[in-house]
Amino acid sequence: MTTPTVRVRFAPSPTGYLHVGGARTALFNWLYARKLGGAFLLRIEDTDRARSSEENVQVILDGLAWLGLDVDEEIVFQGAGIARHQALADRLLAEGKAYEEDGAIRFRMPEGEIAWNDAVYQRISFQGGDIKDWVILRSDRTPTYNFTVVADDIEMRITHVMRGDDHISNTPKQIAVYRALGHEPPVFAHVPMIHGPDGKKLSKRHGATAVGDYRVKGILPGAMRNFLALLGWNPGDEQELFVDARDLVEAFSLERVQKKSAIFDLTKLEWLNGQYISRTPPEELYALVKTDLDDRGLTAAAVGRDRLRRAVAVQSERARTTLELAERVAIRFDASLIRRDAKADKLMAKDPEGFRTALRAVAERLSTIAEPDWTPEGLETELRGLAEARSLSLGAVFQPIRVALTGQTVSEPANVLLELVGKDESLRRIRSALVWEPDVSGIRGEPTE
Ligand code: GLU
Repeated sequence: MTTPTVRVRFAPSPTGYLHVGGARTALFNWLYARKLGGAFLLRIEDTDRARSSEENVQVILDGLAWLGLDVDEEIVFQGAGIARHQALADRLLAEGKAYEEDGAIRFRMPEGEIAWNDAVYQRISFQGGDIKDWVILRSDRTPTYNFTVVADDIEMRITHVMRGDDHISNTPKQIAVYRALGHEPPVFAHVPMIHGPDGKKLSKRHGATAVGDYRVKGILPGAMRNFLALLGWNPGDEQELFVDARDLVEAFSLERVQKKSAIFDLTKLEWLNGQYISRTPPEELYALVKTDLDDRGLTAAAVGRDRLRRAVAVQSERARTTLELAERVAIRFDASLIRRDAKADKLMAKDPEGFRTALRAVAERLSTIAEPDWTPEGLETELRGLAEARSLSLGAVFQPIRVALTGQTVSEPANVLLELVGKDESLRRIRSALVWEPDVSGIRGEPTE
């Protein structure tokens, strides 16, 4: 006897956006199918005609494609199966397993226990007698969710139904329909809901809930996929980073899907994204930020191809999103984008004279460097020499340079930064910073470090 191949499906309603919870469910199904060499199917539950526009369907397809979740076989549109749903309801009616009432067809819930071994929750049991008979076909002959889902899962030969645990209360009704139609129910795996950091169900109050929004925010698809995989699934060992999707497929198992709700932690998503950004070849990253940089006038023609590429490579170590990456690169080539942050003001306010003295000394020393020596190595030697000659710590020289050139205290090494910004522009920025007055309004009263 051959074991039937695993066949799973993602069954979203086209509501106009792909919710991160839906995307996570799709991902788990996809991972399971890929791991077991099965099929991952997509069924669009488009019975609500008003909301089921082509654009809404496209949003789902785009989201899945962006996440790299390729779909096997033709997409099933639930609405196309209505005649089949009606015929099945009529059959149950004819067999006495359903009855007519006010023009609708109502399913007769059997008495007795309805239980299943959930792949996540283990045994779940309901009493059929506790569940009221329910409508499977409305008086206008449109079928209802709990009925169509079973009819279609049978038709699509689905072996495992993996979906949000908010569907647990639907499952006994669905199992009863399987039995009434003479079919074995599939394996059910109810995956935990996603909550915000406050423990409440994830909603727009917590921020963006649509996958497309994260794409716009500069999250890379691999990072999003990696992040979603960790929402409710525990990889077991220390590893959380699965840059290669094949490793994720390999590691995934239903046994490690958790019951307790998953917390959507944006900081973690950004951290993961930063990891992905720093592992992406600069050439690819540049393609992702090119439009943004072009729009700011920072084209390859204006800045130089190599310099742009190098800036992208250097900033890829520190950016958490591609938007931030573009911003960091842009600041290096356009001084008008500099916005001093609170840490920079704090540094200046701590010792305004020291800040200026250091910058004056830096400007004096650097202005003597010939263009060919304006290299990271040459600059490093000069800056170290300067610190030594003035009995200054390296930080007392490097930090003011960072602040003057970027408005921030955190950046690439000062010598690399100077090289990227270029000699003339670096000196211009340093001279401008000499007349800066620290804005202490936001930092007064803060405990000192
Ligand atoms: N359309 C349903 C939903 O989005 C499908 C549930 C299921 O997977 O059975 O919740």
